Amino acid sequence: MRFLFIIIFVLPCIFLLGQKKNMPKVVNNQEKLENMIAELAKANESDVIKWRRHLHQYPELSNREFKTMAYIAENLKGLDVSIETGMAHTGVVAVLNTGKPGPVIGLRADMDGLPVYERVKLPFASKEESEYLGQKVGVMHACGHDSHVAILMGVAKMLHAMKNDLKGKIVFVFQPAEEGAPLGEEGGAALMIKQGLIDKYGIQVMYGLHISSITDAGTITYKPLGTMAAADQFSIKVKGKQVHGSRPWSGVDPIVTAAQIILGLQTIVSRQLDLTNEAAVITVGKISGGVRNNIIPEEVEMIGTIRTLDTEMQKIVHEKIKLTAEKIAESTGATAEVKIHTGYPVTFNNPQLTAKMLPSLEKAAGEDNVRVIKATTGAEDFSFFAQKVPGLFFFLGGKPKNVDMLDASQHHTPDFYIDESGFIIGMRALAQLVIDTN
Ligand SMILES: [Zn+2]
Ligand SMILES: [Zn+2]
Repeated sequence: MRFLFIIIFVLPCIFLLGQKKNMPKVVNNQEKLENMIAELAKANESDVIKWRRHLHQYPELSNREFKTMAYIAENLKGLDVSIETGMAHTGVVAVLNTGKPGPVIGLRADMDGLPVYERVKLPFASKEESEYLGQKVGVMHACGHDSHVAILMGVAKMLHAMKNDLKGKIVFVFQPAEEGAPLGEEGGAALMIKQGLIDKYGIQVMYGLHISSITDAGTITYKPLGTMAAADQFSIKVKGKQVHGSRPWSGVDPIVTAAQIILGLQTIVSRQLDLTNEAAVITVGKISGGVRNNIIPEEVEMIGTIRTLDTEMQKIVHEKIKLTAEKIAESTGATAEVKIHTGYPVTFNNPQLTAKMLPSLEKAAGEDNVRVIKATTGAEDFSFFAQKVPGLFFFLGGKPKNVDMLDASQHHTPDFYIDESGFIIGMRALAQLVIDTN
């Protein structure tokens, strides 16, 4: 009996185990594609860095990205993609059509620089200058949009090489003016949508990333639901009565009134909002008035930004800014004219899509390198796309690992600095998201 058992059960098992050991490891299609992405990202990494450095050296302001548009179009020319230039002034939309039925996936990169003089000592530092709101300004990629463009151009090349393994269409959206169109102009994501981007190309889902100078290169951070704040602009015109600087009592001083208003505005957030609910920010970013030391001027104007993560709080802030400015002005004998321009809505990550695509981000960066974060008070006009189709917007680490987070350079400053070693994770993440979307 025992002998029979050995012959029937034990021997075949030993034989099968031996066979398995000698068999090559079976790689399924998913793994094959994941490996291809890793290899293609590695192969294209140095080009992406080279392109980013070129873009960094020649940044352009919002709605003026003409050279950037030409550079992108030229770069994509060699690929089998249709290219539309000039959407929303300087945008580029390229479509990779696999010819097979499947999803239409939008990948977005913003293109514009900022009116900032670069202070970082880099061989490819920007020396560009331009004019902004009547002032001569430096121009710098101080938010890292140069890296977004370069990464997306790299991803286009990677996916083009993988065309036979893909299905559906991939729409590469290079978007101008994320930082906001110049006064009186339309631009950015809102204008692309107005010009029919989503319907024309039939985009069904949209992905985007933002480099971060304060999170480690090699990591990805994200948040489901509201991830970035709504951003609204305000302007306050304080009108007084012009008088000699030696006789303030004979006029109405709009400078002192404006100073009181600025401090009053800060008490809206610190004293009148329930900050245990969500964060909020009011910032006066520019104030102008007066011409010389001994004239109290007629008028002072200030402009600023409002950041909120909650619609009800947003409404309260708008009302309180108006009330605070008008009543303080009234108390000094001046008047305040308050205008609030609604800007970008909250950037909303579709929760089902975010949960479904999390494994793709983890494949790109490694499970330990993907973290959930709290919402940020920065804003993004990707939010407009995410209002139209399910969207996922995540952050790509760009801080050198040996730099402490507190010492990291900040976005929108002359010292803004990015560690390029994180780019490859961004390339892999966008390509992986495409592969895994069905
Ligand atoms: Zn920015
Ligand atoms: Zn940005």
